[in-house]
Amino acid sequence: MKIMVAIKRVVDYAVKIRVKSDKSGVETLNVKMSMNPFCEIALEEALRIKQSGLASEVVAVSMGPSQCVDTLRTGLAMGADRGIHVESTAALYPLTVAKLLKALVDVEKPGVIILGKQAIDDDCNQTGQMVAGLLGWPQGTFASKVLLDTEKQVATVEREVDDGLETLCLDLPAVITTDLRLNQPRYATLPNIMKAKSKVIKKYTPQELNVEVKSDIEIVEVTEPPKRKAGVIISSVDELIDKLRNEAHVI
Ligand code: AMP
Repeated sequence: MKIMVAIKRVVDYAVKIRVKSDKSGVETLNVKMSMNPFCEIALEEALRIKQSGLASEVVAVSMGPSQCVDTLRTGLAMGADRGIHVESTAALYPLTVAKLLKALVDVEKPGVIILGKQAIDDDCNQTGQMVAGLLGWPQGTFASKVLLDTEKQVATVEREVDDGLETLCLDLPAVITTDLRLNQPRYATLPNIMKAKSKVIKKYTPQELNVEVKSDIEIVEVTEPPKRKAGVIISSVDELIDKLRNEAHVI
């Protein structure tokens, strides 16, 4: 069985985000970019499944500008067998990414697709659900534990919900999206970074996959959140209650 993993290139989580001066978006020029942290977890899970002998191949997919190849190389250095880059300089929103993934599923025929639960740049949390909908496959989102049974062709997915843990049994093929506690992604070792240089990355354009890149979303303006006001030190409980009642109006 083949596992397809979607990995997105995003602004590194440690970078302090700056809004562009024309308020059209977030500054990405000369900014450190990395693999989306939830996608690292998705890839790690796929690699562990392969190491346990339940999958034969892990294919990493990234969509976006030419620099996505760097993200794919990182994925290949972690242990993915092959990469697929769908090259587009246009902004790609979740529905387009889901359509492109569906088109790749038709070519690659994976048994499982693993995605991050969300990308930390747009925080959409939509792509996994959309690709499952387009494919008509069952979905286990926010997975905190994944068990595959390739004989019975099912995946058991434990997921964190508000009330606690929910366990789902999905018929394969299925879509899984990963939550933070699923695993601790590995670092690429130097020999594996070297090996990754010779692994294959196949390129597609959205046109070749018959997907039109368009969006129903228009970004009107991106602004920074208002700065937090400085706090005040109060001298008594009575003063606190007075402020909560008469200034904050919360009691
Ligand atoms: P989102 O729905 O945008 O929050 O993204 C959820 C997940 O979809 C990400 O963690 C990735 O696994 C996948 N994804 C979204 N956009 C891309 C992209 N451009 N390339 C590869 N995977 C993506």
